[in-house]
Amino acid sequence: MAQIVKRAYKYRFYPTPEQAEELARTFGCVRLVYNKALEERTRAYRLEGRKLSYAESSAALTAWKRTEELSFLNEVSCVPLQQALRHQQMAFSNFFARRAGHPVFKSRKKSRSSAEYTRSAFRWREGNLTLAKMDGPLDIVWSRPLPEGAKPSTVTVSRDAAGRWFVSILVEEKIAPLSPAGSMIGVDVGISALATLSTGERLANPRYEASDRRKLARAQRALARKSPGSGNRARAKLAVARIYARIADRRRDYLHKVTTRLVRENQVIAVEDLTVANMVKNRSLARAISDASWRELRSMLAYKASWYGRELLVVDRWFPSSKLCSACGVLTALMPLDVREWSCGCGAAHDRDVNAAKNILAAGLAER
Ligand SMILES: [Zn+2]
Repeated sequence: MAQIVKRAYKYRFYPTPEQAEELARTFGCVRLVYNKALEERTRAYRLEGRKLSYAESSAALTAWKRTEELSFLNEVSCVPLQQALRHQQMAFSNFFARRAGHPVFKSRKKSRSSAEYTRSAFRWREGNLTLAKMDGPLDIVWSRPLPEGAKPSTVTVSRDAAGRWFVSILVEEKIAPLSPAGSMIGVDVGISALATLSTGERLANPRYEASDRRKLARAQRALARKSPGSGNRARAKLAVARIYARIADRRRDYLHKVTTRLVRENQVIAVEDLTVANMVKNRSLARAISDASWRELRSMLAYKASWYGRELLVVDRWFPSSKLCSACGVLTALMPLDVREWSCGCGAAHDRDVNAAKNILAAGLAER
């Protein structure tokens, strides 16, 4: 049966100078409101042991707007400011439920600039999107169509470190499940390969083109030579950010291909709980990079599985996937990280990662 899901479509757009200015001002106000509210919450908690509610934060925002010092907050649409407070509320719920770390202040340099508009703060007419406080619609590059008759419910505008503008449009969409597939698969994430499958297949890490690597190294050397605060340095930084952005785009494309294929081909997909995988595998730069890929892989698998009527099994904490013989079930006491192949007493010869992937599938099915 088809189900209705919320799906975000992200496009580049090119703001007019006025729109860019309005958005930059809005981003600044969003950041300021977020940080002030965070300060208040932290103070209330430290001094009075009290958790502020969304309503209290929202009332504080109203009060700030009445002061002379912060009256400029009235110049931008109030919706993105309210949405920032809603997100902060959510971040604190996650923090108190131990699902996430403590929310941190947003910095102009390090945080992504963004503003979220709900339905009352934009107009959607015949494929034209006009945000509150703006005269004309955004010049969006429709790289793929929105689903027929889709009505946007939320619109998020952002600018990345490379200076590119994006609009992410959330719509409700009817998605029909795929017809059932016969196969089941276990996925073991790794460092040398992105993942190893219980079928023995290895999924390569997203490839960074040699030309990108060369360009990145050159841009980073150029950046290192520029003196702090200079215009040249800002330009050199932007050049580095652009190369990173292209690498990230490629990685995302690749992960979309991989996850779509896994979901298409398999009825059941078993993965490890990633917080565990993180602790088990050693810390290194390579790990930090694969970390980001795993998280993306995992979240894509989760939503695609739910869209298309597949089952994603998440294997519990501390499951000894590498040490267990997938043929006989005997646990090997010692399994150093550098052992890639081993033989069990039962006669089974194992590739470390394939064996782990098989165990993950078996454990997922057993816990189901
Ligand atoms: Zn065995």
